Amino acid sequence: MSKALQQAEFFLKKAIDFLGLGEQEYHLLRQPDRVIEVKIPVRMRDGSIRVFTGWRSQHNNALGPYKGGIRYHPDVTKEEVIALSMIMTWKNSLADLPYGGGKGGVRVNPKELAPEELEQLSRNFFRAIARVVGPDFDIPAPDVYTNPQTMAWYFDEYSKVNQGEQLFGVVTGKPKRLGGLETRIISTGYGTALSAKLAAEKLWGSLEGKTVAIQGFGNVGQYAAKYLVEWGARIVALSDSSGGIYDSRGLDVAKALEVKREKRKVTLYEGAERMVSNEELLELDVDILVPSAIEDVINEGNMKNIKAKLIVEGANGPVTNAAEEYLSGRGVVIVPDMLANAGGVITSHIEWVNNRMGGWIKEEEALQRLTEKMTSVFNNTWEFWEKESQRKVPMRIAAYALAVKRVLDAMRLRGWI
Ligand code: NAD
Repeated sequence: MSKALQQAEFFLKKAIDFLGLGEQEYHLLRQPDRVIEVKIPVRMRDGSIRVFTGWRSQHNNALGPYKGGIRYHPDVTKEEVIALSMIMTWKNSLADLPYGGGKGGVRVNPKELAPEELEQLSRNFFRAIARVVGPDFDIPAPDVYTNPQTMAWYFDEYSKVNQGEQLFGVVTGKPKRLGGLETRIISTGYGTALSAKLAAEKLWGSLEGKTVAIQGFGNVGQYAAKYLVEWGARIVALSDSSGGIYDSRGLDVAKALEVKREKRKVTLYEGAERMVSNEELLELDVDILVPSAIEDVINEGNMKNIKAKLIVEGANGPVTNAAEEYLSGRGVVIVPDMLANAGGVITSHIEWVNNRMGGWIKEEEALQRLTEKMTSVFNNTWEFWEKESQRKVPMRIAAYALAVKRVLDAMRLRGWI
């Protein structure tokens, strides 16, 4: 079984136990409603025909249309797509959005394809799944190696299949010219920073002056750094795959962003106190750690050396189960990925609503709505965690439980169970 599916089933089981439910509910929620596998022929530049395989998994739609990204990756499997669609059901439910969970994937290395081959692949894939998507049925979005341009092709292909009807709401994460929002790019990192701020306020009354180390300086890490500093935190360490920089007085984030943009490596920042490796960064004596790069970086090997009291998961799965159990036992608060990086899907919802209302929302209003939504989602999750467990279990378990509970409630109300 793939690791993604193991993890998804592990946490579903934990949530079911937490809610005092049994095997029946577990089996009911374990399987996706439907998985479609499609063949995608593409005529390559040299005249040959290559056939790719793609999947769309629709896990549960008790709360609303299926929603989740589509990734292009040479290692993607059907199992992984199923696992990720299940996780989207919980993520959307926790974010209190009127969405179920879905996920898609195409087994391809997009870097090997010419732009016109990629366009053909995207159009042919979307045409193949056109019968099972739609603005009120299943709404894809960008994921690994797909982007606003991919969404523009999907939207266009969908319009063709539907006799020219311009159904903008069929995908989110579109370019601005086609109904997307500019705030989409900042949303995940902004939401991660906001989660850190809200958690700091709960723990210490304020974020002001708290020291932060951020691992990963890509889309999530950069915007998390930008807003955390704006809200009064002191960013003492930053890193990317080239390594990290440290300054106890606080780094100049604006300068670091410029260095990253111009020279592509944050380690080319001049004037920091010293360099740190990615491993050292995680073990620094800071108040808040924001892992925003890859998974499993906090694990059994380094968990005993972690000094931060608050970990906010910008990345997906940066803390392993064993490390989470150990650190939570020591009183470290870990804001789970499902909550800390929900800003993207919340903005997707704002985009979708905006498309359906004919496009009237202003960018400032979209950010305002994201702020309000993220704050209420964070507070509701935190309260549920305190009330139902007195913080005795990791916050992640309570978050899963709250999400699963909402889905089961909807299924009951609809008379499905
Ligand atoms: P990205 O590719 O823009 O940035 C990743 C950053 O991590 C880069 O700076 C890269 O240099 C760095 N990195 C790679 N390997 C590293 C390593 N071993 N140590 C330290 N740094 C390393 O990606 P992103 O969009 O910022 O996504 C980061 C994480 O957040 C991923 O886990 C992703 O699944 C998750 N996430 C992203 C979004 C989103 O909207 N971008 C939404 C939800 C979750």
